[in-house]
Amino acid sequence: MTDRYASFVQSAAGRALVKRLGLPDPPRLRRHHPGDPLLAGPALLGAATGARYAKPVAMRLTAAGVELAEPAATTPRRYGALLFDATGITDSTELRQLYDFFHPQARAVLPSGRVIVLGNPPQECPTPRAATAQRALEGLVRSIGKEFGRGITAQLVQVARAQGDPSIGLESTLRFLLSGRSAYVSGQVIRVSGGAASIPADWDRPLDGQVVLVTGAARGIGAALAKVLARDGAKVVALDIPAAGDALAAVANDIGGAAVQLDLTAPDAPTRLAEHLASRHGRVDVVVHNAGITRDKTLGRMDADRWDQVIDVNLSSQERINDVLLERELIPSGGRIISVSSIAGIAGNRGQTNYATSKAGVIGLVDSLAPALRERGISVNAVAPGFIETRLTARIPLVVREAGRRMNSLAQGGLPVDVAETIGWLAWPASGAVSGNVVRVCGQSLLGA
Ligand code: NAD
Repeated sequence: MTDRYASFVQSAAGRALVKRLGLPDPPRLRRHHPGDPLLAGPALLGAATGARYAKPVAMRLTAAGVELAEPAATTPRRYGALLFDATGITDSTELRQLYDFFHPQARAVLPSGRVIVLGNPPQECPTPRAATAQRALEGLVRSIGKEFGRGITAQLVQVARAQGDPSIGLESTLRFLLSGRSAYVSGQVIRVSGGAASIPADWDRPLDGQVVLVTGAARGIGAALAKVLARDGAKVVALDIPAAGDALAAVANDIGGAAVQLDLTAPDAPTRLAEHLASRHGRVDVVVHNAGITRDKTLGRMDADRWDQVIDVNLSSQERINDVLLERELIPSGGRIISVSSIAGIAGNRGQTNYATSKAGVIGLVDSLAPALRERGISVNAVAPGFIETRLTARIPLVVREAGRRMNSLAQGGLPVDVAETIGWLAWPASGAVSGNVVRVCGQSLLGA
C-alpha cells in the first residue's frame, strides 16, 4: 500500500535522478489538518465584466481568513490560489479575459495551490453563444490541471441561479476546494444549485451533531471515512459484515462511534437497519453507501455468481436501503445520500464488466434520485475514486499498478483519506446546494477523462 517510488522521488537522490531522466515526478500533496489555514498563501481574485459573484465571494473568503492580493501590486507575488469569476462571459470573444487574467500568473501559484473558475451552467444560459462560451471554460480548467503541476489542482464551479445570496451555498464548496481536503480532486466540474445550506458554528466541526451511517467501514476507504466524519463532529454508525466484526469494533471504538454487523445483501437487511437507526438514533442525517466488492473476470469467463454478487452489493442493496429509509422518513430534510462509484463506472475496465455496470448504475441512481429528493431537502451525490492506495489496489500486478498510479495529473495514487474528505464535504449541512453531482477523486486520471 506504500508508494515507494513517490517516497524515493521526494529524497535528494531521487530528485536528481528524476530531473536527469525525465521520470514521473509525484509532488508531496498538501492535506488537511484541523486548524490549518485554507491556503498556504494569498488568493488572487479576478472577474470578467458583468460577473455576479466576485464581491460576495471576496467577503466570504476574507471572513474565512484568506488574504486577498491586490491585482495591481507591482512586486511579483506567489499565490495560494487564483480564482476567476467568469459568470459574466456571454460570448466566445470574451474568453480572452481568462487569458489576460491567468497568463501573467501561470508560474506564480505555490505548490499544492488552487485554481478555481466560477461559471454558469450552460443549460441555464439565455443564448447559444453564452452557453457555448460557458462550456468552453471546462477546457481551460482541465488543461490548467494538467499543465501547472506541483500538486496544483484546477476546478470549474458552475453556480445555478438561485433565490437569495448564492454565495452562501458556494461557501462550503470553495472552502473544500481551496483547502488540503481536496488534495486529490482535480479537473472537476461541480454544480452548485439552490438547495438550502446552513453555515456551521465551527468550520472545524462542520458535521457537529449529525448522525452518519457508513457502510463497509471495517477497513480501507470506509475506515478512513469513519475517522474523518467523526473528526468533523459526526456521530458515526459504522456497518460491515459479521466476518469483519473485530476490525469494525476497532474502528468504532477508536472514534467513539457505534458498530452494526450486517450483511447488506441479506433479505431483511434494510428493515433491520431501519429499525436499528430508528430505535438508537431516531434518524440518520447522512447515508454513505461505501461497501463494495470486485469479482473480476473477462465477460466470457465470468460465472453468473460473480455478476450477481457484484450488482447486488454495489448497487441493488443501495436501492433497497434507500427505499426503506426514505419510506419510513428516517432521512430528514437536510439529509444526504452519498454513494461511492468508481472511474471504472465512467470509463469501463477490462475484466470488470460486472463492477463497471454496478458503478455506472450508482451514477444513474444519483441522476434519477436527486431531482425528486431536492423537494424533500435531501441531496444525493456520488464520488468516483480513481486509483486509491488500499488492499484492493495492492493486489493489482506491479506493472498495471504502476500505470494506474502514474496516469493522472498528480502522478500518484490517492489515499483513502482523500475520498473520505470529499465525502465529508458533500455530507456537511453547509453543502445543501450541492446535489446531483458525481465528483471524481482521481487526481485527474486519464481514464474516462
Ligand atoms: P475494501 O474491500 O477495503 O472495503 C470494502 C468494505 O465493504 C469491506 O470492509 C467489506 O467487508 C465491506 N462489505 C463488502 N460486502 C459487504 C456486504 N454485503 N455488507 C456489508 N459490508 C460489506 O474496499 P475499498 O478499497 O475501501 O473500497 C470502498 C469503496 O470504494 C467500494 O465501493 C469500492 O468499489 C470503491 N472504490 C475503491 C477504489 C480503490 O482504488 N480502492 C477505487 C474506486 C472505487
